[in-house]
Amino acid sequence: MSEETVSLNFIEKIIEEDLKAKKNNGAVITRFPPEPNGYLHIGHAKSICLNFGLAEKYNGCCHLRFDDTNPEKEDIEYIDSIREDIQWLGFDWGTNEFFASDYFNKLYEFAEKLIMDGKAYVDGLSPEEIRKYRGTLTEPGKESPGRNRSIEENLDLFRRMKAGEFEDGKYLLRAKIDMSSPNLNMRDPALYRIRRVTHHRTGDRWCIYPMYDFTHPLSDAIEGITHSVCTLEFEDHRPLYNWMVENTGPGHRPQQIEFARLNLTYTVMSKRKLLKLVESGIVSGWDDPRMPTISGFRRRGYTPESIRDFAGRIGVAKANSTVDIALLEHCLRDDLNKRAKRVMAVLDPLKVVIDNYPEGKVEYLEAENNPEDETMGNRKIPFSRELYIEREDFMENPPKKYFRLSPGNEIRLKHAYYVTCTGVVKDETGTVVEVHCTYDPDSKGGWTEDGRKVRGTSHWVSASHAFEGEVRLYSHLFSTEVPGEKTGDFFDDIAEDSLTILKGCMLEPSLKEAEPGEFFQFLRKGYFCVDSRDSSKGKPVFNRSVAMRDTWAKLQKKG
Ligand code: ATP
Ligand code: MG
Repeated sequence: MSEETVSLNFIEKIIEEDLKAKKNNGAVITRFPPEPNGYLHIGHAKSICLNFGLAEKYNGCCHLRFDDTNPEKEDIEYIDSIREDIQWLGFDWGTNEFFASDYFNKLYEFAEKLIMDGKAYVDGLSPEEIRKYRGTLTEPGKESPGRNRSIEENLDLFRRMKAGEFEDGKYLLRAKIDMSSPNLNMRDPALYRIRRVTHHRTGDRWCIYPMYDFTHPLSDAIEGITHSVCTLEFEDHRPLYNWMVENTGPGHRPQQIEFARLNLTYTVMSKRKLLKLVESGIVSGWDDPRMPTISGFRRRGYTPESIRDFAGRIGVAKANSTVDIALLEHCLRDDLNKRAKRVMAVLDPLKVVIDNYPEGKVEYLEAENNPEDETMGNRKIPFSRELYIEREDFMENPPKKYFRLSPGNEIRLKHAYYVTCTGVVKDETGTVVEVHCTYDPDSKGGWTEDGRKVRGTSHWVSASHAFEGEVRLYSHLFSTEVPGEKTGDFFDDIAEDSLTILKGCMLEPSLKEAEPGEFFQFLRKGYFCVDSRDSSKGKPVFNRSVAMRDTWAKLQKKG
C-alpha cells in the first residue's frame, strides 16, 4: 500500500472504493445540512471541513442545504449567519444552495405515493397513546387501529390534513413498516404532522410539515447526493433512511455514512444549549468571544486557517471522544506565530523614569515586526525618558532567581537599552507608583560591546507616545472539562471569571489605527485582535485570542 492509501480516513476509503467500482458514475456529491435554528459552532466546522473537503479532494461538489422543516424554531438571521460562517471558513457551495422547503411539493407527492402503495397510513392516536403503542427496547410495539385503514380512506384523510380540515395534532401520517422491529425507529415513524405555523419561506401555504427522518433522505435523493455524511447518533436511523429512499423518492440511493461528532473540553456544543446561554444573558450574544460558535471564534481572533488546521488534525473517527481544547488553541498559536505582527502593549502599567536620559529627547528605535518572517519588515518605536512597563515586571523585594527589574538589578528593555533600577517612589499606602532607573547609552538596540549579559527582558511603551486602551482577557466559560457532568445542569459549572476587562492599558502608538479583525502578538502577553463590535476609528478594543503559554505543546513534549 502506498503512504497515500494508509493515511486515508475511513470515509475516503469508502469513496475511493466507490470510485473504483464506478458507482454513481464517478461522482462525489456531499452536502452540509444545517437546521437554521441557531448559529454554527465548532462541531459544525468539523462537518463543514469534512464535507467540503471531500468534495474538493474528489473533484465533486458540496451542497449547502438548509434543513428547514421546524418553522417555529427557525429564523432568517440564522440562515444569513450560516452562509457567512461557511464562506469565512473558506468554502464555496457555488450555486448549490438548497432548502428542504423547496421540496415540500415533491415530498408531499412522495408521501401520497407511499399511501397508494399501502406503505403509509393516517393515524389518529394521541401522542400519549402513540408512545404507549410504541413498546420498548425489550417489548414489541402494538399496531394502531389506524394501520388497517383502506388506501382510499388514508388518501382522503391525508388530503384533508393538507387542506387544513383538522386541528393541530389531530392526525399524523405514519410509515407502515414494522411495529415489532428491534429498531424503534422502524416502528411506523411519523412522516407528517399538522402544525399551523408560518414558515419563513413558504409562509402559510402549508399546515402540515414533513418530519426529519422523511425529509432528510429524500432531500438527499432529490439532489443526487452520493455520500450523506452525518454524526453517529443517526446510525440507528440508517435502516429508516434506506427504507425511505428505497420505497419512495426519485430513485437515486445516497449512502449514509456516520462519523463521530466533535466534543471539546470546557465547552457545550449543542445549539439548544448555546441558545440558553444567549437567552440567559451570561454571554453577550451568539458571537460573544467566549462562545464556541464560529462567529464567536472569529470575533475572538481565531483565523479560518487555524480552524481548518484543527479539523484536519482531529481527523475523522467512528468512535466518540472528547478533544482537548488546548489543541485548538495550539493550532491558533501555530498560525499566528507565523503571521502576527509583534507589538508592545503594557496591560498593567507601572511608570519608569530614566533619570540620566535627557528630558524632551525622543529616539525612534528599530523594531522587527516578526522574527519568524523577515519579509514583514521593521518599524520605528519611540523611546523617551518616561516609560511604562508591566507592574509584574518589577519587584521591590524579589525572591531569589527573580530576573526582572528590582533595585540594583539590570534588565534589557526590548529593542531599546539596558536599564538599572536605582530607586522607587511610593504613595501614602506604600504602593510603588514610579520606578527610577539609569540607562546605559552604549547598549542601544539591547546589547553591549562588552558582551555583558542580563537575564530579564521587559516590554515597554513610551509614556507620552502610548495611548490608553481597553483590553479584554478571556478564559474558559466553564470551570469543568465536561460542563454539567456532576449535576446534569451545565449552568452549575459556569466559570465566574471568564471575562476580565482591563481599562487603562498603555498601547504602542502604531496600534491606534488598527482595524477590526486585525491580529497582533503583544510581546509576552499573547495574541490579540481588534474587536469587531466595540471598536471605533482610532479607538480599538482588543480581545485576547489566546495567551502565549502552550499547554498542548508542553503535553506533547512530556508525552
Ligand atoms: P446541535 O445539536 O448543535 O443542534 P445538530 O446536529 O442538531 O447540532 P444541525 O444543524 O442539524 O445541528 O447539523 C448540521 C450538520 O452538522 C449535521 O450533519 C450534523 O451531523 C453536523 N454536526 C452537528 N454537531 C456536530 C459536532 N459536534 N461534530 C460534528 N458534526 C456536527
Ligand atoms: Mg438538530
